[in-house]
Amino acid sequence: MAIKFSERVSKVNASEIRELLKLTARPEIISFAGGLPAPELFPVEEMKKVSVKVLEEMGQEALQYSPTEGYNPLRKQIASRMKKVNVETSMDNILVTSGSQQGLDFSGKIFLNPGDVVICESPSYLGAINAFKAYECEFLEISTDNDGMIIEELEEKLSKIDNAKMIYVIPDFQNPTGRTWSLQRRKGLLEVAKKYDLPIVEDNPYGELRFEGEMLPSIKSMDEDGRVIFLGTFSKTFCPGLRIGWVCAEHDILEKYILVKQGADLQSNSMSQRELSVFLDVYDLDEHIEKIKDIYRVRRNLMMQYIKSEFPKEAVATYPNGGLFTWVELPEYINARELMERALKENVAFVPGGSFFPNGGNENTMRINYSNMPDDKIIEGIKRLGKVIKEFL
Ligand code: PMP
Repeated sequence: MAIKFSERVSKVNASEIRELLKLTARPEIISFAGGLPAPELFPVEEMKKVSVKVLEEMGQEALQYSPTEGYNPLRKQIASRMKKVNVETSMDNILVTSGSQQGLDFSGKIFLNPGDVVICESPSYLGAINAFKAYECEFLEISTDNDGMIIEELEEKLSKIDNAKMIYVIPDFQNPTGRTWSLQRRKGLLEVAKKYDLPIVEDNPYGELRFEGEMLPSIKSMDEDGRVIFLGTFSKTFCPGLRIGWVCAEHDILEKYILVKQGADLQSNSMSQRELSVFLDVYDLDEHIEKIKDIYRVRRNLMMQYIKSEFPKEAVATYPNGGLFTWVELPEYINARELMERALKENVAFVPGGSFFPNGGNENTMRINYSNMPDDKIIEGIKRLGKVIKEFL
């Protein structure tokens, strides 16, 4: 057979993380590789009751097709929750998606022609890089520091090209670095986007998982002309298996997302949407989020404490104030992919950071997750990783 695939699909690589996750599913592995929430925190009992209630009270509707835009009571609840990121909006500006990953794919579909340039943080979220790549785009990476994207570099690079099409950022507890943008950088980004008339896709799955300090206003909340598309999700604050996320955007832009959703999957899961909506009605999601944060904060503290005592001083880690990840930079001569192979022999896993740079390089970096392992495994895993890193010095 000589079946020919599209050029588009040949440009998409298997997600290294998904491959890694398969490997690290072995029970003996201490895995800091995934970005998985802690499953012991899922409200299984509550969801059992919610599912029964949905089936008893609106069973036929829950198993039927429903509108593309989403289940209206849930859209209203999401619009109201947008106040948490300082955005006043209504249900008409909300589209329910199958996770925010679908919002990323749709962003690529709506904005990108082959050869167009996506501006992103260096490093950025691998799932977004892969989603955009399918639309045959190029990536222009902008350097980042502890305050987010370096706006001067963004300006300078944008002044030299004319095919930039979209800016993609994760300003709160970024995946993979765990860093959060300062207010000044957020404002700076908006100014530059305005100057070059570019849309901004603000991806915010982790903002509500802040362990300490004050939340900073979302970029969407400072958006004066409707150029910011906000992607939200219940995956990290609730349960990723429900696959419920959302797009919040101005009417004309949201229309395009609705249009491509019709072609992609018609609608998000009718049952999941109703289950989530009833959960939000009957239970207190914010209370649930507080519980999650209490546990993740302890895990973050423990991980950072042990990184400090067990890793050599040459390994520099970010200190995340929320979210799920820390990011470690090693001396340049250390290749974290080789380090990972060695670490796996010690039954410990992380994600080599090179995958998060769309144009390659930076192989001396690692993303380490702290949300998914219990305290004793965090301690043991970091001790083992520390030993392996020291071997590579
Ligand atoms: N964006 C970022 C930055 C993420 O880290 C993730 C999940 N790893 C997603 C989007 C997708 O999440 P979901 O589709 O589960 O909402």
